[in-house]
Amino acid sequence: MHVDTDDLATLLKMQHLDLEAMRDKKKLEELPQRAVILEARSKKKAIEQKRAQLDALHAKADAQLSRIDDEDRSLSEKQRQVQSEIDAVRGDYRGVEARTKELNGFAKRRNTLEADLTAVGDELAKIEGVQAQVASALESLERQEAEATAAFVKEGGALKDALARIEAERAMLASSLPADLLDAYKKTAARTGGVAVGRLQGSNCGVCRMAIEGGRLIDMKGQGNVAPCPQCGRLIILE
Ligand SMILES: [Zn+2]
Repeated sequence: MHVDTDDLATLLKMQHLDLEAMRDKKKLEELPQRAVILEARSKKKAIEQKRAQLDALHAKADAQLSRIDDEDRSLSEKQRQVQSEIDAVRGDYRGVEARTKELNGFAKRRNTLEADLTAVGDELAKIEGVQAQVASALESLERQEAEATAAFVKEGGALKDALARIEAERAMLASSLPADLLDAYKKTAARTGGVAVGRLQGSNCGVCRMAIEGGRLIDMKGQGNVAPCPQCGRLIILE
C-alpha cells in the first residue's frame, strides 16, 4: 500500500492518541478510590446492622426500666395506703400486725426492684458505650467514603475531560485520512489491541522485532511504503 507522507504522520499521531486514550481509560477503571468507596460502603452496612441491634437492646432496657419504675411507684402508693390504714387501726394489734407484714413484703419487693434497676442501668451504660463506638466508627467510614468520592470525582473528571479532548482531536485526524488507510488501521488495531503501526528498523519489524528476509522485504517495498509485518500483521512503515 502506498501512503502519502502527511497521512503517515497523521496516522502515527492518531495512534499516539489512541494509545493515550487506552491508558487513560485503564486509569479511570483502576482508580484506587473505587475500591475504597466499595469497602467503606460494605463496612458501613455491617456496622449499621450492629447499630440496629444495639438500638433494639436499648429500647428493651428502656422498657424494663419503665416497668420497674411503674411497679415501684405502685408499691410506694400501696405502702402509703397501708401505712395510713395502720395509723387508722392503731390499737388493733392483729390488724397492725397483718398490715406490717404486708408493708415488709412491699419493702422487700422494692429492694429487689432497686437491685434490678441498678442491673438494667449498668446494662444500659454498656449498650451506650458500644453505641458511641459504633457511631464514631460510622462517622469515620463516612468521612473515608466522602474523601474517596471527592477524589474520585476530581481524578475521574480530569481523566474524562482528557478522554473527551483526545476523542475530538482523533476524530479530526481520522476525517483527514483516506478511507482505506483508516480501515486498515482500525482492523489492525482491533486485532492487536494496542500498537498497530510500527516502523521498519534495519530489516526488522519495529514492533515484534522479527527480521524480515531480504527478498521478502524487497517485494514488500515494491508494493508501497506500508505493508503488514509477515509475523505480527502490524502495519510497518518501510521508508
Ligand atoms: Zn511484526
